[in-house]
Amino acid sequence: MINEVDLKHLRRCVELARAALEAGDEPFGSVLVSADGEVLAEDHNHVAGGDHTRHPEFALARWAAERMTPEERAKGTVYTSGEHCPMCAAAHGWVGLGRIVYASSSAQLTEWLNEMGVAPGRVRPLPIQEVIRDTPVDGPVPELAGEVRELHRRLHSRG
Ligand SMILES: [Zn+2]
Repeated sequence: MINEVDLKHLRRCVELARAALEAGDEPFGSVLVSADGEVLAEDHNHVAGGDHTRHPEFALARWAAERMTPEERAKGTVYTSGEHCPMCAAAHGWVGLGRIVYASSSAQLTEWLNEMGVAPGRVRPLPIQEVIRDTPVDGPVPELAGEVRELHRRLHSRG
């Protein structure tokens, strides 16, 4: 279930995604929140330099592994503008983070890119639950999906 607090964090993720796009990168943004609701870290995609593993969810998993206890990680929530890819879902699972909330799903992104005539990437867009076990997952959120779609449309329409 998505509540107002979740929506606030997801809106920040979409803002980060927009900032990434405006900085010449791909529009994905994520926020790590502690059990008591504190925003611990946030990031967006940094793949424009050529390293396509520089996803925000992966960066937040490493941030958590370096700075949080296993108990803190298990109670932490990762919010993200787009559902974790398999790499990031695995990183989330390996470091033992808790809940995931995403604004738009990998299935939605796949459909949008298909509509835009963008060839599918090499990594399969598996749902998080097919990559990691025992993780509460919420999303997509219909009222944010249109905004995320528009960011991807802008990414793929620029020359
Ligand atoms: Zn990823």
